[in-house]
Amino acid sequence: MNAETSPSCAAPGFDCARIQATISLLGLDAEQGKCAERLRRELIDGNAEVLVNSCLDALARNQDFSLVKENIGVEPFKQSWIDQLRGFGQNYDTPGHFEDRLNVAAACARAKIPLGILQLQHCLTQQALVDRLSVQYRDDPKAAWPLVDCILKLTSLGLYLTAESYHLSEVDELQKALDKLREETSRLHQKAAIDQLTGVLNYSSLMETLEQQVAKAEQKGSPLCVMMADLDFFKKVNDTYGHLVGDLVLRHTAERIQAAVRDFDMVGRFGGEEFVIILKNTDLALAKVIAERIREEVSSTPFHAKEFNIEVTISLGVAMLRKDEHMETLLERADAAMYEAKKNGRDRVEIADDSGAAP
Ligand code: GH3
Ligand code: MG
Ligand code: MG
Repeated sequence: MNAETSPSCAAPGFDCARIQATISLLGLDAEQGKCAERLRRELIDGNAEVLVNSCLDALARNQDFSLVKENIGVEPFKQSWIDQLRGFGQNYDTPGHFEDRLNVAAACARAKIPLGILQLQHCLTQQALVDRLSVQYRDDPKAAWPLVDCILKLTSLGLYLTAESYHLSEVDELQKALDKLREETSRLHQKAAIDQLTGVLNYSSLMETLEQQVAKAEQKGSPLCVMMADLDFFKKVNDTYGHLVGDLVLRHTAERIQAAVRDFDMVGRFGGEEFVIILKNTDLALAKVIAERIREEVSSTPFHAKEFNIEVTISLGVAMLRKDEHMETLLERADAAMYEAKKNGRDRVEIADDSGAAP
């Protein structure tokens, strides 16, 4: 073998060693190269089109041939067949030949030409060559034996490479379909986790996230804080400007909360105009700073919704996870602190009693 294995030939697993192994398995040797040359000279040259036409008549009777017509077109299919026949056995032991055979079969697989049609194509070519040989060597059949042997072996090689490439193309197609499905599933998962109005986590994924974070914090012994945030007098916003404007205010509130927290903090919509923020690896002192930042972000600038500028404030309650505490009680304490903030005049932050909190 003189040519180097090209990358596209190596890709489906046909490196030099495998090419050599295939050739020797099929009993192909230097003798076949010479026989193939004789076949081209004595049988094929000048007759390729006639031979292919006779094969094509037979193949066209197969019901799947309609797919060739629809997906490739008879003329290009025929031309490619003639070209293959003209090069019958030429450089059959080189990576270039393997690559060419694999690429042709892969293109047919992509064009949804059934493998059976390609296999019949090889069998019919083989039959046509043997028939012609038997006529040509009518008077000396024994002299045709090495040529018949060559036809059989080279056809076997063609069939093998076609099936191999076809199989690899199908695996490739399946892999692509699988990747697409995975992407779609992950997109749907993400979509299912997001609150459509505000773009933050929805209730169920917020609860799931909180459960995971509580478990992690308890396992690592790291501090975890939770904030409950509720807009002040939001009913009045709806009553004054309408529900649609209220919706816009909710969306902007979520944006402002996101802007005030750190990248790794988790924001979710707990209900109507209530948000929960989960702060991992955060103690009460730091959580209070972040809560004040949210309060400030919401109340410092009026919300612009439709043609209105709407002043909104927010009340926040912060609680830190106690040792062995369940997420429900942690949330309840944050909620109680938030109500404390309401009671104490709104637009403020209250901290839940942290006695019993994890160190
Ligand atoms: P407070 O300061 O005591 O919290 O007063 P509030 O008016 O905000 O009272 P509350 O929290 O009980 O009221 C929440 C209101 O939020 C009631 C409801 O009409 C409104 N709301 C809940 N969900 C939505 C929503 O998705 N869109 C809009 N526009 N309004 C909502
Ligand atoms: Mg409210
Ligand atoms: Mg509320």
